[in-house]
Amino acid sequence: MFSYRHAFHAGSHADILKHLTLIHLVEYLQEKPGALTIVDTHAGAGVYSLKDGFAAVSKEAEGGIIRLLKFIKDGNSIPEGVQRYLDLIQAESSGNALDTYPGSPFILARLLRPQDRLKLFELHPKEIDILRHNIGQLKQAKQIDVYAEDSFARLKGLLPPPSRRGLVLIDPSYEDKQDYRYLETAMEEALQRFATGCYAIWYPILSRRESAALPDRLKKIASSHKRSWLHTELRVENAPGERRLQASGMFIINPPWTLEKQLAEALPVLTKALGIGGGAQFLLKSFEA
Ligand code: SAM
Repeated sequence: MFSYRHAFHAGSHADILKHLTLIHLVEYLQEKPGALTIVDTHAGAGVYSLKDGFAAVSKEAEGGIIRLLKFIKDGNSIPEGVQRYLDLIQAESSGNALDTYPGSPFILARLLRPQDRLKLFELHPKEIDILRHNIGQLKQAKQIDVYAEDSFARLKGLLPPPSRRGLVLIDPSYEDKQDYRYLETAMEEALQRFATGCYAIWYPILSRRESAALPDRLKKIASSHKRSWLHTELRVENAPGERRLQASGMFIINPPWTLEKQLAEALPVLTKALGIGGGAQFLLKSFEA
């Protein structure tokens, strides 16, 4: 059942949208000194080589972060939030060339303050071993728990975190179309236990019915718990019939007030930098409860 390996997609346009948003959420929540618990429900392997392995085969980074770097090299300017994202990603590479792309576990680990905790879930039998090995190399390893468990079932048990300050990234592979239903159930349960947490959900924009319906279903869940939300999407091309992923979205429940401004600056630039053939566009909507 598990064939998805995130290495194929490391540094893609979808990773850019997800990780740029994630970094902003963490840094906003860290403006207060209280301990922050971060849960990454679908962790992947943690960090990826762009030089060899699956990422070198798929070359998705070339349409993502490599393209963004070329856009800058060509003399285009980028907003501060995009620069912050790039600084964190580039810090993972050894030389001047981008040879490594950190996944969400490494991005989050690098941002941890001593008082913060990170909880990572991964079910793939190979990815979990690689993730454990990669996390073991980090100086922040003692602040990180790695679980080889189904996060949809386990999330509610971790909420609310002891400090009552929490961020949850939910980034399934949607290999199983039931993931959409599991995600909705997990969100309902999470909001019942910890309504004030910040939840960031990534999803692919596909022709699949479940994918198209997801944002509206999440809006209903957020509204039924009287929660604010922000919904954003980034499309880099519009080529119907092509199998590659052309667009993805993020749905944030309880977003910080600063996120909309940050994305309003970043999205037009990302659309310009990553767009192919005039089909690029973005969406940015929010609702305050
Ligand atoms: N969040 C990662 C990042 O941004 O670098 C990428 C994660 S990838 C999209 C999704 C991962 O979730 C895959 O490695 C997959 O094996 C894992 N997975 C799938 N179902 C899961 C579940 N129910 N619980 C925990 N992990 C799961």
